[in-house]
Amino acid sequence: MNPDSLSFLRQAYREYYFRHTDSIEFPNDIHTREFGYIPFGGGMVRHLSFRSGGEAIAEILKQSPSSVYCSNAKYESPGAPMEEKGWLGAELVFDIDATDIPTPCKRGHDLWYCKKCSSSGKLPSPRNCPKCGNQVSDFHGTCETCLSAAKDHAMRVVEFLTEDFGVQREAIKLYFSGNRGYHLHVWDDRFYHLNQLGRAEVADYVLGASLPLNQTITSTLKRRSPDKVASIEGWTGRIAKYVESKRPGYEGTLQKLVSDAISTQRAIVDSSVTTDIHRVFRLAGTLHGNTGMCKMPIESVDSFDSQKDPIVLSAKPVAIKVEFYPKFRVNGVDFGPFKTQMAELPTYAAVSILTRGLGEVA
Ligand SMILES: [Zn+2]
Ligand SMILES: [Zn+2]
Repeated sequence: MNPDSLSFLRQAYREYYFRHTDSIEFPNDIHTREFGYIPFGGGMVRHLSFRSGGEAIAEILKQSPSSVYCSNAKYESPGAPMEEKGWLGAELVFDIDATDIPTPCKRGHDLWYCKKCSSSGKLPSPRNCPKCGNQVSDFHGTCETCLSAAKDHAMRVVEFLTEDFGVQREAIKLYFSGNRGYHLHVWDDRFYHLNQLGRAEVADYVLGASLPLNQTITSTLKRRSPDKVASIEGWTGRIAKYVESKRPGYEGTLQKLVSDAISTQRAIVDSSVTTDIHRVFRLAGTLHGNTGMCKMPIESVDSFDSQKDPIVLSAKPVAIKVEFYPKFRVNGVDFGPFKTQMAELPTYAAVSILTRGLGEVA
């Protein structure tokens, strides 16, 4: 990124932070949390600690970084090196990303492209650019279908937590991640001291993974009728209900029906995120470093519009030279496609092109 692009981004983010410090949402016990940030054009700075929200905000305003992070864990000494921090516990967190969810639209908006000659094409990518021989990169686009699939999977996690784990709905907070998915934070003390293995079990459960269940349930359903099994709690009942609803006229095997029951009801979460108890997460109310969109709490799942509500940067136009960028939609407006050309774009739309290194402020 050239110096003009860097200072443009820094300025755009700073403007947002100056006006919206109220939107930044700190978890409880700030003084026990580890903070981190990534400056524009720099590497991750971690192991920071602040005594209050005001102190943290002052630093965010000063740095106007590309990304701001905070731990879900609490520590005795959050600013110390990892092995000396003194881990006290951590909220349970889930990350649901559209990239991990197989949606048919990906064939249309996921591409490979060549930075050198601006060629592009559908995935899978060739090893080298067929036109100039340069190395190619993958481009993962996003669309309403992908984001609504991610939302659907996030709501499945909510359902597993409330129905199978007895978590109060008010204890679960859902956030738009600022890019392609959702974060789910769970404030339930029962998970607070859970170690990595315990968290992996919870993640596996919502993923419908590690189920000896598949075979067990098949043999249970062979012995007893699905309507009797349906009253059993958890996955067993869930699968039985599905089997019961699909069985009339179904010609495949019971085993296949059971696998379908799992694959259509499981929640695709990134288990490495749930399992990592020393992680830092994007702080709610701050901007995503690649999109300029806000990580924001979702009060009403039905009315939340992931392609409009998190657009918080200004519409001030900026002239950029774009090397390559496929057609995209943001804030209800279509932009592109662009190929080695000048374009004048609203700030909120220019950010993704600049941060991906596919254009520069002219
Ligand atoms: Zn090329
Ligand atoms: Zn899509």
